[in-house]
Amino acid sequence: MLPNATTVRWSILRAFIGERCVLPEALIREFPELRSARYRRGGLPPRIGGWFLGARSVAGIALRHTVWLDQNADLTPDLLLHELAHVRQWRSVSWFPIRYIWESLRRGYDRNRYEVAARSEARMALGGVKKSLGGHDDRRLTERGARHA
Ligand SMILES: [Zn+2]
Repeated sequence: MLPNATTVRWSILRAFIGERCVLPEALIREFPELRSARYRRGGLPPRIGGWFLGARSVAGIALRHTVWLDQNADLTPDLLLHELAHVRQWRSVSWFPIRYIWESLRRGYDRNRYEVAARSEARMALGGVKKSLGGHDDRRLTERGARHA
């Protein structure tokens, strides 16, 4: 069966803007602050983020109030809390995208001050939970497995 025009239009649109993503309720219960962003899966933004890091895609990228997740990214607290920190940066730092790019050009991705801050925020948010769970560190797994912008 051939797809009709509406199906084709939706497929093209989805390739650009991805699909709305609802986070698992258990994750929201554990980290209620994740409610303060919107989430989408797929679409162009994770791919564009990847171009800047020499990868096919990034696991996640924050654009204003929305976190765009790669189609195959695991929804780990580390990734989501990291991207939430970038959403906060969008809200609190004027000219954030320009400053972010400038930092990346000057210091590179890993030493970009906004990346350092986002990693630190995610680690702090996870810290309280980890202590109660016995100190399992899943941050290293995520950083090894996938980069996020
Ligand atoms: Zn980042």
